[in-house]
Amino acid sequence: MIQRVCILGATGSVGASTLDVIALHPERFEVFALTAQQRVDELVQLCRRWRPRYAVLGSESQALAARTQLRDAGVRTEVLYGAQALCDVAAHPEVDSVMAAIVGAAGLAPCLAAARAGKRLMLANKEALVVGGGLFMETVRQGGATLLPIDSEHSAIFQCLPDDRRQWAERIDHIVLTASGGPFRARDPATLHSVTPEEAVAHPNWVMGRKISVDSATMMNKALEVIEARWLFELPPERIRVVLHPQSIIHSMVVCRDASVLAQLGTPDMKVPIAVGLAHPQRMASGASRLDFLSLSALSFEAVDPRRFPGLALAYDALGAAEGSTAVLNAANEVAVAAFLDRRIRFTDIHHLNADTVAAVLPARDEVSAIEGLLALDARARAWAAAAVERMSA
Ligand code: NAD
Ligand code: MG
Repeated sequence: MIQRVCILGATGSVGASTLDVIALHPERFEVFALTAQQRVDELVQLCRRWRPRYAVLGSESQALAARTQLRDAGVRTEVLYGAQALCDVAAHPEVDSVMAAIVGAAGLAPCLAAARAGKRLMLANKEALVVGGGLFMETVRQGGATLLPIDSEHSAIFQCLPDDRRQWAERIDHIVLTASGGPFRARDPATLHSVTPEEAVAHPNWVMGRKISVDSATMMNKALEVIEARWLFELPPERIRVVLHPQSIIHSMVVCRDASVLAQLGTPDMKVPIAVGLAHPQRMASGASRLDFLSLSALSFEAVDPRRFPGLALAYDALGAAEGSTAVLNAANEVAVAAFLDRRIRFTDIHHLNADTVAAVLPARDEVSAIEGLLALDARARAWAAAAVERMSA
């Protein structure tokens, strides 16, 4: 049976890798919908190549521009726009699988729509789960959706576990998420305040979007992944550990009750977890190169230095605080990263902004039970963080 796929965030790094994998298996997948926030020309190119039924852009003017270009090219893709259209294509009755590859909390609503509609939901958009938390998982359960992790660490853990989720709790003692340490693993922490956006987005092992690249440099990416793991694997925070592994060959590990350790290895290429998600429970070619054991250098491990990477502790603090604190942390971090990329605040300010926002914006109990409340909390946290950016950059 052919799988009809909707790719949310098709013009991004994960979106592009997803299309690369799909291109290897034309008999298995059909591209049904592609979405992008801004890059009209790129999305039009993708529509010419893939001929999806729907394309979604951020605004009406962009949609009009895309419609004209596609009509001139003789492509019959229907172009929609706006947040509701993302939900509509993600939940479309003819869609089997949704690749959630939007960056940030903007991806939450379409993820919930796909979950409610019982889709196979391939989740790269970690921020959606960090914001949505319990509501996200409950919506997956109630909608009968299949949630497949695409983040490489979570895919690794998923691959080390049996398909039957009911066996997970009794097997796992704890999990170990590996972290590369990003571009500043060996840099003197006293010089981090002068880091430029160009230095921060230059990841040593992975090619990714700008936001996640900055998150990797601050280790907020791992903080978000700890929170993501808490929900995906239903583990308390003390059973989720992080170790530095600069080579990015071991993508994460499960330490079993009997002290046996299961790890998943491979070259650092998102096409692997994407192919795992697309083919699950089977396996298929991903197009990634294979590990060459004989040319591997040593696999090494280090503890995370909290002076260099203070952001990681924020995840554990937020998980121990009121539900919704993780949504506040995520909102603050999105504002902080954007301000850093705009050169309005310094690299080291990102952490201060995150910590200050979590301390100042307290979730109300009724804000976490529905998406409206979560989005209001997200907006409150963004407003607080944006005002703090104004003060910092004044
Ligand atoms: P990216 O910046 O390359 O692409 C983001 C995509 O989302 C683009 O298509 C963009 O048009 C769309 N988008 C951005 N803002 C939007 C909005 N407000 N509404 C609708 N669409 C919007 O990002 P990426 O690196 O591909 O990452 C995507 C997600 O996957 C992130 O959550 C990231 O943390 C996660 N992830 C990425 C990688 C990676 O290797 N790139 C690995 C693991 C997880
Ligand atoms: Mg990851």
